[in-house]
Formats: sequence, C-alpha cells, structure tokens
Amino acid sequence: MSAKKLRADLIPPQLASLRPYIPGKPIEEVERELGLEAIKLASNENPLGPSPKAVEAMRAALTESHRYPDAAGYYLRQRLAERLAVSMEQITLGGGSTELIQLTTRLLLGPGLEGLTSQYSFLVFAQSVQAVGTRLVEAPMKAWGFDLEALASRLTERTRLVYIANPNNPTGTLVRATEVDRLLARLPDSAVLLLDEAYCDYVDEPDYSHSLDYVRQQRNVLVLRTFSKVYGLAGLRVGYGMGHPQLIAALDKIRSPFNVSRLAQVAALAALDDEEHVRRSVESNRRGLELFAREIPRLGLTYVPSHANFFFLETGNDAEQDFKALLRMGVIVRPLAFMGLPRALRVTVGTEEENRRVLEALKKLVTTRQPRSELVRGQPA
Ligand SMILES: *Cc1c(COP(=O)(O)O)cnc(C)c1O
Repeated sequence: MSAKKLRADLIPPQLASLRPYIPGKPIEEVERELGLEAIKLASNENPLGPSPKAVEAMRAALTESHRYPDAAGYYLRQRLAERLAVSMEQITLGGGSTELIQLTTRLLLGPGLEGLTSQYSFLVFAQSVQAVGTRLVEAPMKAWGFDLEALASRLTERTRLVYIANPNNPTGTLVRATEVDRLLARLPDSAVLLLDEAYCDYVDEPDYSHSLDYVRQQRNVLVLRTFSKVYGLAGLRVGYGMGHPQLIAALDKIRSPFNVSRLAQVAALAALDDEEHVRRSVESNRRGLELFAREIPRLGLTYVPSHANFFFLETGNDAEQDFKALLRMGVIVRPLAFMGLPRALRVTVGTEEENRRVLEALKKLVTTRQPRSELVRGQPA
C-alpha cells in the first residue's frame, strides 16, 4: 500500500494541538523488562480487586453474551434511583463516567462558547472542551485545590459548562458543599455545573457535598459517579450521570444506545449491593492514607492531604526521573509532566504490602538522588 496522506483539512483543526492520552506499558511488559514483579499504582484502581459478588453475577451472565444489553439500563437505573432517592428520569448510564463528560461537552459546547474549569484538574475536561473547538478557560488553584471564587469570577455569558472534580484528580483535594452552594447561586441559567464525584465513597467529611439535593431540586447540574473506583470495576467501563430530566433526555439522544455492556450492567448491579466490599475498600484506603500522611513528610517530600484513593506528591525534583527510578524498583506511579506539573507524581493507595513497598522505594529514591536545593518548586500561587 502506498503511504498516502489524508487531506489536510479532513481532521478538524482544533485536534492538531490536542495530545492523545498516552497509556503506560502493560504491567506484564514492565515486569518482563525488569525481571521482577511490579506493582501498578498509576491509575487509581481498587487494590482489593472487583467486588466478588460482581464477579459471580458476571459468571452467571456470560452465556447471555450473544444478546445486546438493555439499552435503557432499566434495572441498574432503578436500583440507583432507589438507593439515591432521585427519579429514574434523572439518571443516565455511560461507558465509564468519562464518556459522560465527553457527551455532555459535545451536547452543550461548540465554537464561540466557553468551558470553565481549574488548572490541574482532570485532563478529560480540557481535552473534551478542546476537541469540540470550544475555548477552555482555566481558573488558578489555591493550595492545590479548586478556588471557586476564582472560578466564579470567570463566568461569562458564553460559559455553558463548568467542570469540578470533587475530590480533584490529581491533587486529591476537596471543595466544601457550602462553597459549591455559593457557586451554584452565582451560576447563570445559561450554564450547567458538572460535578465529577468519582471518589465520593472515600470522602470522610460531614460538609462534603449537596450534589444529590441539587439533582432533586432540578438545578442546572450533572453529577457524575463511577463504578471504576471503590467498586473495582474500571475494566468494565460503567458510570452514571444524574441531573435535570431534560438534560438527561438530551444525553440519551446522543449516546450510543448500547454504551454500557451487558456484563457491566450486571456487575454494577451486584456491586451496588456488596456493602462489605465497599466497606473493606474504604477502610483499607483510609489506613493507607494515614500511613502515607505520617511517613511521606519524614522523607522530606511534600505530601498534599488526600480525600481520594491516591495522593499527590511534590518530589522537588524532575518527576520523570523519579518515575523512572521508581519503575526500576518495580513501582509504577504516574508522573504529571503531561499536565504541566513536572515536579509532581500521583500515587494510588495500594494494599498494605504495596504501600510499604512504595515507601521503601521512595526512601531509596530520596537517599540516592541529587540534592534538591537549586530546584524551584512548582507550587501555584
Ligand atoms: C477515575 C476518574 C473518573 C472515572 O472514570 P471512568 O470513565 O468512570 O472510569 C472520572 N473522573 C475522575 C476525576 C477520575 O479520576
């Protein structure tokens, strides 16, 4: 076949500056290269694995795999509606909540409009805004967290969608319910607030979120949650969005009818009822965070207190180098240079044994590397 080029104007021009998601190597490949067993703490997956009840339910459902899934996700939406005291018409399902971020962006944004979020937040927000040729407005952060005052001051009549990840990925920080109340009060009815609560189950704060009240009051919100984190089903791709029934109806018109697979629906339904697995996952994560909060500062590294299942770490060094050094020790973490944070790593909380291994590796890292004195820290103002 001859190497023929695509017509230059075939691909929309806004895609030229968009960088693709760069996945890490499969862990098996890393292990083969290193000749040692590696641990992967790079994608905020549940270290305890999937809910055993979900696995059992999928096993029983395998032989129905020739059937298309239920396009309405009836039983899963019904269970979620019951559980969360919202109506079924206020819920839509997605192939992971990231699909719902992209669909909502496609629905509401376009050229001449604006998408608003914070710097150093979930990269899917920025990427989906840019993919539809919309201007991305990023407010500065405060102490590695969303600054909702700075965000509100950037609302314009062109703003159609405001994205908040709470807790935030990659920094693990929280915004309080009362702060979001105030932002929502200032939000013009020409805009929708997208509240991404992927890590909500790990949060242990009384003033965390009023998101379900907003949904019940039919405010201009879309609340996103996922089965990828505490339920341990990231590989299946299932999440859900809750919001105004008309917004949900519009999303249902543009999604692919079978966007959530049969097995994913079956597994999610079973996982919702597996309270034991959720409790164990949350408890194990809490112990891990306590360990890191205590031990990381002792290594002379800057630990940002986390409300999620990962933590954000300023190494004060070229984090790409740190990442490679940790990789050689069989510990796979996420360096954050790709999002403009060249001195920061994100580390997923693992099992107790994995966490000990991370700490040992970090200790080795700080005792062997160059002094950090001449380096400027990347803390935003
Ligand atoms: C992990 C994560 C999600 C979940 O993505 P899925 O597509 O549901 O796997 C959503 N938002 C944020 C901020 C996340 O970190």
